[in-house]
Amino acid sequence: MSDIAQHLDTVRQRIADAARAADRLPSSISLMAVSKTFAAADVRAAHEHGQCIFGESYLQEALQKIEALADLRAALEWHFIGPVQSNKTRPIAEHFDWVHSVDRLKIAERLSAQRPESLAPLNVCIQVNISDEASKSGLAPDEVAAVAHSIAGLPRLRLRGLMAIPEPAATLDAQRVPHRRLHALLDALREDGLALDTLSIGMSADLEAAVLEGATIVRIGTAVFGERDYAIH
Ligand SMILES: *Cc1c(COP(=O)(O)O)cnc(C)c1O
Repeated sequence: MSDIAQHLDTVRQRIADAARAADRLPSSISLMAVSKTFAAADVRAAHEHGQCIFGESYLQEALQKIEALADLRAALEWHFIGPVQSNKTRPIAEHFDWVHSVDRLKIAERLSAQRPESLAPLNVCIQVNISDEASKSGLAPDEVAAVAHSIAGLPRLRLRGLMAIPEPAATLDAQRVPHRRLHALLDALREDGLALDTLSIGMSADLEAAVLEGATIVRIGTAVFGERDYAIH
């Protein structure tokens, strides 16, 4: 078995174990394989081992990969998880199935206006700056409700939920704190009438904490594909 296939099995087992500990069904958690900096051939190998959801952060790199894997397009879901610049929304609206990193209304409005009629509405999550870091992107928690209600009214988007990239923390308990805060924010939006089903949290280092706190999509890069070499960026 290839390294990627073995790594996928290990990550699936981690998800299953964490789900059991959380008294959740493993099938309620989707695994996104974050393929940024890795080759189209690696995505193909992962797909051959049953992986269908892939996450990308760098637009040019992603577009090349999507093009190289055009034969698999109908079998794959491409999720954009990187910072969205407003002058780059059109190719994102045209080529992706999901965007997890919507952090202002203007970006959402552009994505909605530019989403081709031939495609299903674009699934989006609002990225929240849950650790209150000045340097991190994402909406402040107290700004989320107003933006969420506006995005929910855009015709070519489907608002699915919230995403966060918390500050790294060393212990399971510390990792759970920001995840729990994001889950509470999601619950508040639901109580406020928004039909949301997605909590996009959990990376290679904090997958278990995220599953314990209700993650529905975990975004796993290193644990699937190995260490990244950022030299190409
Ligand atoms: C790179 C990236 C990941 C994956 O991180 P790993 O630690 O390699 O699992 C997840 N989410 C986002 C937004 C990323 O940019």
